[in-house]
Amino acid sequence: MPEETERKTLDQRQQMTELERIRHSAAHVLATAILRIWPDAQFAAGPPVENGFYYDVELSHRITPEDFAQIEAEMKKEIKANHTFERQTVTRNEALELGTKGRLGALSERATPSKFKLDIIEGIPEHETISLFQNGDFLDLCAGPHVMRTGNIGAFKLTHVASAYYKGDERNPQLQRIYGTAFKNKTEMEAYFTMLEEAKKRDHRKLGRELELFIFDEDVGPGLPLWLPNGTVLIEELEKLAKETEFAAGYQRVRTPHLARENMYLTSGHLPYYAESMFPPMILRQEGPLHPLLDKQLKELDHEATELAKLVLTKEKLGAIAEQARITGDNPSTVIAAELETIKAVDVAQMIRDIAMRRLASSMLQGALLDEPEHYYLKAMNCPHHHKLFGAVQRSYRDLPLRLAEYGTCYRYEQSGELFGLMRVRSMQMNDAHIYCTEEQFEAEFNAVNEMYLKYFATFGIDKYLMRFSTHDPSKLGQKFVDQPELWKKTEEMVRNVLKKSGINYVEVPNEAAFYGPKIDVQVWSAIGREFTIATNQVDFAVPARFGLTYKTKENTEATPLCIHRAPLGTHERFIGFLIEHYAGNFPLWLAPEQVRVLPIGDEEPLINYSKEIVAELRAQGVRVESDFSSDHIKAKIASAEQKKVHTMLVIGNRDLEANNVSLRVHGKGNLGAKPRNEVIADLLQAIKERRA
Ligand SMILES: [Zn+2]
Ligand SMILES: [Zn+2]
Repeated sequence: MPEETERKTLDQRQQMTELERIRHSAAHVLATAILRIWPDAQFAAGPPVENGFYYDVELSHRITPEDFAQIEAEMKKEIKANHTFERQTVTRNEALELGTKGRLGALSERATPSKFKLDIIEGIPEHETISLFQNGDFLDLCAGPHVMRTGNIGAFKLTHVASAYYKGDERNPQLQRIYGTAFKNKTEMEAYFTMLEEAKKRDHRKLGRELELFIFDEDVGPGLPLWLPNGTVLIEELEKLAKETEFAAGYQRVRTPHLARENMYLTSGHLPYYAESMFPPMILRQEGPLHPLLDKQLKELDHEATELAKLVLTKEKLGAIAEQARITGDNPSTVIAAELETIKAVDVAQMIRDIAMRRLASSMLQGALLDEPEHYYLKAMNCPHHHKLFGAVQRSYRDLPLRLAEYGTCYRYEQSGELFGLMRVRSMQMNDAHIYCTEEQFEAEFNAVNEMYLKYFATFGIDKYLMRFSTHDPSKLGQKFVDQPELWKKTEEMVRNVLKKSGINYVEVPNEAAFYGPKIDVQVWSAIGREFTIATNQVDFAVPARFGLTYKTKENTEATPLCIHRAPLGTHERFIGFLIEHYAGNFPLWLAPEQVRVLPIGDEEPLINYSKEIVAELRAQGVRVESDFSSDHIKAKIASAEQKKVHTMLVIGNRDLEANNVSLRVHGKGNLGAKPRNEVIADLLQAIKERRA
């Protein structure tokens, strides 16, 4: 369902932040201004959105950015007038009457009814109060909330126009969507636009090309990134980090295929509910358990035929002996005579007919079964495969908690319009793990997952983060949420405890949990203050039961484990997209695709040899080091290394050679002077080992 058609609940509205109130109020002011210029404008919906607000309007005049100055001038007047947002409640009939008179979303009564507002009134549930808000002359149908006065809108700016169908449905009229943003004050707004400018420079798609990290290719397909060697370094360093961290935390690694039969996704519930987000199935000819059965049947028939052939031969042989005896007048032995009598009774022709018919039937059955297609799906999630691994071995309470980890590749069929660089892709490698534990172990396990997050945040210098803790709504048990009230209460309480105790920055969002348990979305802010949702943690107390997963308890009874899905580093794609912006492509030493470049000043042999020695020494220690032995001037060599964002440059002159030194230069820090070679190398190795920022 497109977002704009989803009606916000009153609860959700009450949770609007101050900034959202300011922005939504600015939408009312925008409508006021448009009406001053074009009084017959018809307004539909005007909600706050990420980073701003919009208002949808039907108007014969085509609004363009050239109109913005005029509209903004009218908006300023309305803000200066400092009108209060007056709320009044009306009956449904009163609201309909005002709408019919064209008074809703308008400055006065008009000849044409407020058609969209009338339609919106129809959609308001019977029991819900209908409220109107008025600022100055502008009266609007709205549930609020707003700021107190128009003057509370500290700073605003119109940003762009787009077109949008009413309620997101292309059968409805096309409207003009005017976007803007608003802030508490001018300083905050300026900081926002500066941040946008900086974000443009740090755009991961732009830097991804410049630093040769990844590509997309039309022949491979949209949303399917290919990683160049430099990008692959980032991936492998992240995996190394994850593997070390997870190993220390008691995880075990597993590996699973990228696809599975339809049946598994029916068990997991991904089918049919998640089918739209999965790639369509691969249709294969049937194979599997039926095939060997038919094979066996055919082999039996072959065996029967062979036996029959032998029988025929024996019959002929015995017949020949009997015939010989008859001619010579000898008496065949009584044994042969008896056997001959038995064989004579066999109707060979009938048996051949019988075998042939059964063989034909088997072949036809096999053909029919092979025509019945079988469906395989690319995996959209790793969980079902991991559940199979849990279930494959008899588990006891002693095995728990069991933590299965995999950088699993998943495929999701995102709409092509939704694809965006590395942020929205169709193939992704996920820092996945599933922790199977008892209820008693849950809290400690969940806490350990959170600590892992904090450790990663420290490694990457992520200072600002927020965990959105989504809980269930008891009134929707059995519909939106699995009907296990006790488990919901218990697990939510445990998650809440962990979050509180650890002092983690979090907000609680009711009614947004997953079907099978509470979840946490992790939002982080990049160095320039842009928000990214990088990971989701989920508690799952329903799916393990669907897969029939059990373990033996101390009392020797069977119990179902809880499962924690966690992916602190999210997917490589999204996390690297975030890191590119966060570091502006200036990766710390441990992550940098090219960590060190050795640059001799000149090309005399002793200088080159000394440089080669340093390269060999670093390489032997696993450092990604390159050298520039070109005939370029040293200034050009440095410029080229800086442009490629090489982390550390070791410039080698004759004086360095004599003193067994190197002249150290760090990208972004400039020349740090000559230092003893051994000291510099030791420090480089230490910085890499520590993953120093
Ligand atoms: Zn409003
Ligand atoms: Zn999972």
